[in-house]
Amino acid sequence: MKAAFGHMGTLTPVIEMILEDLGHQPITPNRPTRQTLALGARYAPEFACIPFKIVLGTYVECLQRGADTLISGGGYGPCRAGLYGELHGRILRDLGYKFGFIFFWPPLRKPVHFFRQLKKLKGTHSWSYLWITIKKGYDKQVILDDLEMLAQRIRPREHKYGSTSRAFEQAYSIMRQAKTASEIRKAGKEGHEIMIAVPHDQSLQPLKVGVIGEIYVQLESFANFFIEEQLGQLGVEVRRSIYLTSYARHDVLSTKGDMASRKLAMPYLAQKVGGHGQNSVGDIIRYSKLGYDGVVQLAPFSCIPEIVAKSLVPQLSKDFGIPVLTLFIDEQTGAAGIKTRLEAFVDMMEQRRSKGCQGDGVTDNL
Ligand code: SF4
Repeated sequence: MKAAFGHMGTLTPVIEMILEDLGHQPITPNRPTRQTLALGARYAPEFACIPFKIVLGTYVECLQRGADTLISGGGYGPCRAGLYGELHGRILRDLGYKFGFIFFWPPLRKPVHFFRQLKKLKGTHSWSYLWITIKKGYDKQVILDDLEMLAQRIRPREHKYGSTSRAFEQAYSIMRQAKTASEIRKAGKEGHEIMIAVPHDQSLQPLKVGVIGEIYVQLESFANFFIEEQLGQLGVEVRRSIYLTSYARHDVLSTKGDMASRKLAMPYLAQKVGGHGQNSVGDIIRYSKLGYDGVVQLAPFSCIPEIVAKSLVPQLSKDFGIPVLTLFIDEQTGAAGIKTRLEAFVDMMEQRRSKGCQGDGVTDNL
C-alpha cells in the first residue's frame, strides 16, 4: 500500500521506517505550511480545531501525491479527537478521493479493533516481526526526543543565533536515514555529538519555561509558530510537558494518562475533561514546584479541554506564584502577534527574576 499519515513533530522518520519495514511505500507528509492549513481550513467545518484542519490539509496533499491508504489515530474521551477519523474520512470521500483508512483507537480501550487494524498493517509478516519493528521505532523515537531536549537546553546558550536549530536539523536528517537497530544507535551517537559541538555557554542560567497544552500544537512546530525556537532565541530554556515517547507511555500504553500531573491537578480539577486539559492544570503546578520562571499554555481555538484549563489559570497563577501565558491558536492567528506576546512575557519574567518577586503574571491573547 502507498500509505500516508499526519505530520506531528519528530514522528515522521519513525512511521516512515515502520511502513518500509512492513513492505509498504510511505507517502511521507511534508512539514505543514500555510498552504496545508489553507487546504484543511477550506474543507473542514469552521468550528473544527486547528490540528484537525492541518491534518486534513496534509491528507489532501498526500492523496494528491498518490497515497491510497491513510493511517491515523484518535483519542478517547470527551473531546473531538475521537471523531477525527470518521470526519476526515467522510470529508475526503465527499471530495472524491478513494483510499483505505487504517484508524487506531488506543489499544487498551478497544483492543480487538486495535489488533484488527494492526493486522491490516502487518500484511503477511509475523506478529513477532511486527513487534520487533515497532520496538525499533520506539527506540528511534527515544533518541529523537532526547535530541529535541538537548536542542531545547543548548539553544538559549548558543553563541551564534540559529546554530542549534541547524545542528538539530542535521542530527534529525541522520536519524531519518538510519533504518537498522545498529544504524539507529550509531546515528543517535552522531546526532548527540553534533548537538554538543554547537558552541554555547554552559555557565548561563537562562529563564526556564514549561510549554503545556494540547498535544498537536505542542509537538508540531508549524502549529505553534516555532515557539521553542522563538523562546530559545530570546534566551529561554524550554521544556514541553509532552514528548512522543512520554505520550506513548502515558496515553497509548495506559488508560490513566500522566498520573503525576493529574494528581497535582485534582484539588482544582478532579476529573478528565478530554485531551490534555486536566494535565495542563497539573503541569502549571508541576512547573511552579520545579522552580520554572513561567508557563506557556498552547491551546487550539475552540479546544474545550484547554478552555477548561484556562479558566483555572488565574487561580493557579496566584496560588503558585507563576506567570502563565495562554496562546489560543487558529488559522487567523498571526506570527507577529505571537512574537510580540512572547517578547513581552520574557521581559516580564526577566523583571520578576531580577526583583526576586512573585505574583500574578497571567496574560493571554484572547
Ligand atoms: S484536545 Fe482540543 S484541539 Fe485536540 S482534538 Fe480535542 S478539542 Fe481538538
